[in-house]
Amino acid sequence: MAEAEKLKEELFRKTKSGWECTEDDKKMKIFEFCDSYIEFLNNSKTEREIVKSTKKLIEQNGFKNIVEYEKLVPGDKVYYINRNKSIYLAVIGEDSIEKGINIIGAHADSPRLDLKPNPLYEEAGLAFLKTHYYGGIKKYQWTTIPLAIHGVISKPNGENIEVCIGEDESDPIFTITDLLPHLASEQMERKLKEGVKGEELNLLVGSIPYGANIAEAVKLNILKILNEKYGITEMDFVSSEIELVPAFKSRSMGLDRSMVAGYGQDDKVCVYTSLRAILNIEKPKTTAVCIISDKEEIGSMGNTGMESHVFDTFVSEILNKLNVNRPNLLDQVFCNSKMLSADVDAAYDPIYSSAYEKNNSGYLGGGVGLNKYTGARGKSGASDANAEFVARIRGIFEQNNIKYEVAELGKIDIGGGGTIAYILANKGVDVIDCGVPVLSMHAPYEVTSKFDIYEAYRGYEAFYKS
Ligand code: MN
Ligand code: MN
Repeated sequence: MAEAEKLKEELFRKTKSGWECTEDDKKMKIFEFCDSYIEFLNNSKTEREIVKSTKKLIEQNGFKNIVEYEKLVPGDKVYYINRNKSIYLAVIGEDSIEKGINIIGAHADSPRLDLKPNPLYEEAGLAFLKTHYYGGIKKYQWTTIPLAIHGVISKPNGENIEVCIGEDESDPIFTITDLLPHLASEQMERKLKEGVKGEELNLLVGSIPYGANIAEAVKLNILKILNEKYGITEMDFVSSEIELVPAFKSRSMGLDRSMVAGYGQDDKVCVYTSLRAILNIEKPKTTAVCIISDKEEIGSMGNTGMESHVFDTFVSEILNKLNVNRPNLLDQVFCNSKMLSADVDAAYDPIYSSAYEKNNSGYLGGGVGLNKYTGARGKSGASDANAEFVARIRGIFEQNNIKYEVAELGKIDIGGGGTIAYILANKGVDVIDCGVPVLSMHAPYEVTSKFDIYEAYRGYEAFYKS
């Protein structure tokens, strides 16, 4: 019997919780790290805010805008901001860049509700803002919760007005109403998918009329308030990007404080961990690059999404400033490069166990999650990492004692999802998805394990140093 146990120990894949072998001093480091992470989340709920917080953090750590450099040498730290919504960072390595770069790529955008271009209307003495949801959400989750308004309003004269209402304790918040159960017997017959419809996600923003016997007086009063505060008129909404995000704060979760609950952890948890990792990199052997992209949740399209060529332009600019560029070198660099596509993974939820396949799931506390491939139903649309590359990444993690687990996203015929992995793979980069497992992904309040967050950070750092 004892021999069988010994043999098991030797031969079986280890599936224990990471907390089991976490000593007190490491636990303290994990908790400290996650306190900073929670603070970061609370200060950056949108992609624009992420870019702003990132710029501040990296400038304090020696990064400079690439335009400030005429030529680059090993150890230089540069960044490029793409239209205030995505950012690329690099620490120049000692080795020839022709041998490739080490990339970690996360995304700053998260599911939310965007305002429509003509959002404001009044009905029954109430003023509302119409929304168009962004990314894959369960719409019913976004009603009857406190929401905050974040974003920018751009004016033709070049003025960019930043808006943030609902975060300060003294601010008002906003909400989307839902029908009381007493009157919801018809609504309750709807399928959950249509329980709340897209056109029902209208934000309640006011109820005081500007004067008596005036048509649309509540709408007028709202516009008057906005005009006084921001100098805008109704037409200015057309050139705005206003996002509604949960107004509540990220917090430590559980009696044992082992988890983080917060909005937008997909994919801000990977943004924060990869950023913290690259801050530890001084004069690496291989050039270290961190991508914080936009529009991942809606297919990575547009000039701030990963499908655009702006990242290629950034790497080309590095080649130019290293004085090594020549035709086709960029393609060669990509073909020799390695990447962790840092995006969250679906954690196994025992309440909904039928959606998962136990043997191939990521577990909260199981460490950083590797997805060899995503896709669904016959690996359709999957970027499938090569065995050799998986072996390399495993090797790095095992050498550095980083706890990881390898998972699929749910059951074969149920699951599915994509990340930015395939976009870099198309350029010839060796890529694997590598991120933190999340419960309630895409919900207004997502849950992660502090252990996994810390292992992601350590794993990313080890990858950069490899
Ligand atoms: Mn994601
Ligand atoms: Mn997502």
